Parts: sequence; C-alpha cells; structure tokens
Amino acid sequence: MASLITQTDIGIIGAGPQALTLVTHLLQKKKQWRSRFIVIDPQGEWLSQWRQQFKALEIPHLRSPAVHHPDPYPYALRSFAENRPDELFDPYDLPGTKLFEDFCAEVVKNWGLENSIYQAKVVKIVPIKGKFQLFLSDNNIITTSRVVLATNQGETQIPPWVNKIETKYPQDRLAYARQINLANLKLKGERILIIGGGLTSGHLAVGGINRGAKITLMTRRNLQVKLFDADPGWLGPKYLKGFEAESNWNHRWEMIQQARNGGSITPKILGELRRSNNIEFWENCEVREAKWEENRWRVICTNDLEKDFDRIWLATGTKFNAQENPLLTEVLQTYPTEIIQGLPVIDKYLRLPKSEFYLMGALAGLQIGPVARNLAGGRKASEMIVQGMTKHSYNLARQVKSDNARIDSLQLGII
Ligand SMILES: Cc1cc2nc3c(=O)[nH]c(=O)nc-3n(C[C@H](O)[C@H](O)[C@H](O)COP(=O)(O)OP(=O)(O)OC[C@H]3O[C@@H](n4cnc5c(N)ncnc54)[C@H](O)[C@@H]3O)c2cc1C
Repeated sequence: MASLITQTDIGIIGAGPQALTLVTHLLQKKKQWRSRFIVIDPQGEWLSQWRQQFKALEIPHLRSPAVHHPDPYPYALRSFAENRPDELFDPYDLPGTKLFEDFCAEVVKNWGLENSIYQAKVVKIVPIKGKFQLFLSDNNIITTSRVVLATNQGETQIPPWVNKIETKYPQDRLAYARQINLANLKLKGERILIIGGGLTSGHLAVGGINRGAKITLMTRRNLQVKLFDADPGWLGPKYLKGFEAESNWNHRWEMIQQARNGGSITPKILGELRRSNNIEFWENCEVREAKWEENRWRVICTNDLEKDFDRIWLATGTKFNAQENPLLTEVLQTYPTEIIQGLPVIDKYLRLPKSEFYLMGALAGLQIGPVARNLAGGRKASEMIVQGMTKHSYNLARQVKSDNARIDSLQLGII
C-alpha cells in the first residue's frame, strides 16, 4: 500500500481495471513517472470491486475476448494463458474469471504497482489555483496538478413502481443486483422475479436455478441476444470513424444508445436458461404494482398477469450523470462543461474544458463511444489520456510559459 503524500502530480481516483490500464500505459510511455502519481481506492488493492462482482454473481468467464485487458501489449493475456488453454472459452477465447484475475495480478507485479494505492475514499474534490485538492475519508488532503476520475460511479436505475410500494417489506426481499451475493443465499423452493434483460439478469437466473429456485425473468421488450454488449465494429474505424466525425454531441449520444441498445444476454447463457424447467420468460412486460402481503410479493404486471414471489431482484442497469456525481460538483463549477444527457463534453484527451481533470469509463462516452465503460474503452481512454498528459498538458504549457518568462527576466536582468 502506498503511504500518504500530500502533494503529487497525478491523482488517479479508483483502482479498477480502467485505472490499471491507464497506469501501465503511462509507465510504458514515461517509465520515470512512477513517482509522479498516486492511486486512491477505499479497498486499498487493485480490482477489488471487479473481483467482488464476478464472485458475487458466480461469473465463470468474461464476456469480452482475451485481447481486452489492462496490459499495453494486446497479446499479453494470450501468452500468459499458453499453459492454461482450458481457461479460454468459446467463442473468441473469452478468459476465465480466475485466469483473468491471475493475469491482472501478474500485470500489477510486472509493472511494479503493488504499492501504488493509497487506501481511502475520495469524498470531495476542490479545484484551487489550477490544482486540485482531494479530500479523503481519513481526513487527509492530497493536492494534485492533475486528476483522473476512474470511479465507475453511476446511479442504479430504479423502476418507477419501486418508489410506489406502500407496504413494508423485509429489505432483503427486494434487492439490486450489486447488493446480491449468491454464495450467501439459500433459495431452494423460492420463487424469484428477476427484472432486466442484461447479462447480469442471466447470471442471477443461473445462480437462482442452481440453488433450486424457480425464476421468472421479466423484460420490457423481447430479450436481446448478442455476443458482446456493443458490436465489435465499435472497437475500430468501422463505426468509430463516423462517430468521431460527428460534431453534434447530441447525435453522438444517440449513437451510443443505439449501439448499446439497452442490455443483452449472450447466446450461451440464454441456451443454458432455456434448458432449465425452472424458468419462465415474461417478455414485453413491466411491473405495474408490487405489494408485500402475507410474507410474499404480490406482483401485478402491465399484461394483467398476477403472480406471487418470495423475492424480487432488480438488474435494471446503471445511469451515469456527471451532474449527479458528488465528486464533480465543485469541479464543474470551476470548469463549466456542456453536459449531454449526463455525459460531459470533454476534449480529445478526455479533459473537462481548459482543465487537467481527466475522465475515464462511461463518463468519457462522448469521446470513446459505446465501449467506454468496458475494458476495450479503458485501453482507448488510456492512450488518449497519456497523450494529453505527456504532450498537451496545460501544466506543461504553463511550465514552458513560466520558464520563458524566467528566461526573459534573466535576459532583462530582472532576476
Ligand atoms: C458483472 C460484470 C461483468 C463485466 N464483464 C465485463 C467483461 O467481460 N468485459 C468488459 O470489457 N467489461 C465488463 N464489464 C464492464 C466493467 O464495468 C468494466 O469492464 C470495469 O469494471 C470497469 O472498470 P472501472 O475501473 O471503470 O470500474 P471498477 O472496476 O468499478 O473500479 C472502480 C474503482 O473505483 C473505486 N472508487 C469508487 N468511488 C471511489 C472514491 N470516491 N474514491 C476512491 N475510489 C473510488 C472503487 O472502489 C473501485 O475499485 C463487466 C461489468 C460487470 C458489472
């Protein structure tokens, strides 16, 4: 774990795969910058949230192929897997969960990053004289010249009927996907309503069935079946060329929505679910009303179906909105930024306008495109941020300007 430094050049907030990707790319370009950044995360270790999510949902392998990972060398994971071919899954060599985690641990070791994380939560960011003060949960303050926000913090999308539930109910009987840890649950004989058409619903359904539950999977439209959450054409010029040429930010936002097109489930998981007798699919359907009565949910749906359930699980996705992110409140006041449906209009180095404040993940969507929140988006974002930091930094410009002023002054004999 890193020890506290109160002043540094780069503060990276979050230690997930996106931040790890950034750091390896930065070191690849500027080995000597190792002492110029600090990573801050409440867990104090790399990828803890990622690992926890995969474990809680018992996900056997990634959805993305083996070329997507935090190391700058695209084939590094394949080379690492050379003696573990059984852990690359069809189609397109999807890395097994354990393989990916072992690989990331190797990346951390190879790049000497074991001690780069300071364990704390950033609770507030205050811009001050072109720098940033990061206020930490342990009451310390770190002042940095540049910040990268890689916290992946979004708002859980809450269906409107949830806030209209009038009856009191036990909290664990209505849970959001990120609150669920399958390993802690005994579900034999229970009836579970899972809401949402993304892969998370699929993993929850498999986990429920494996524990002897009867599942109803409800989706607003027909289940969408796709290998990846966005077409691989979004990883290269096929679609990105048109996206980058689009100067209307609203159109860009629409392109992202169309490409992601809500949640989707993989053919493999759907096949697994369809083979079970313990699942029914309620498509083109929404909850109209839910009541907790006589120790169970009574659910009435828009298609007038009524059914009783023991639990409701919501896998209804996450919305990202810069204006609702508390870490951005003061930053956006100092650096006014156009916001399109929650996404900030950032420059091509992923900075808020005229600032050294960089964004990664979904909030960088208007520059990165539909894969911004995925591993592939992390790589693209890292390349752009590193370019910004090493070549186009306002701080560098400021430094050069002040150096020039100093030279002028020296020549004039002022200092
Ligand atoms: C179940 C699941 C499976 C997925 N599978 C894939 C896949 O196969 N392929 C793919 O490309 N994408 C996948 N994704 C998308 C996935 O979200 C991203 O790939 C990845 O986790 C995003 O990395 P990240 O670093 O942005 O976020 P995270 O992994 O969420 O890391 C963010 C970090 O920020 C820290 N943090 C948050 N707030 C603060 C704060 N205030 N101060 C300090 N630190 C903070 C958190 O503790 C966390 O460690 C999956 C997502 C989920 C939920």
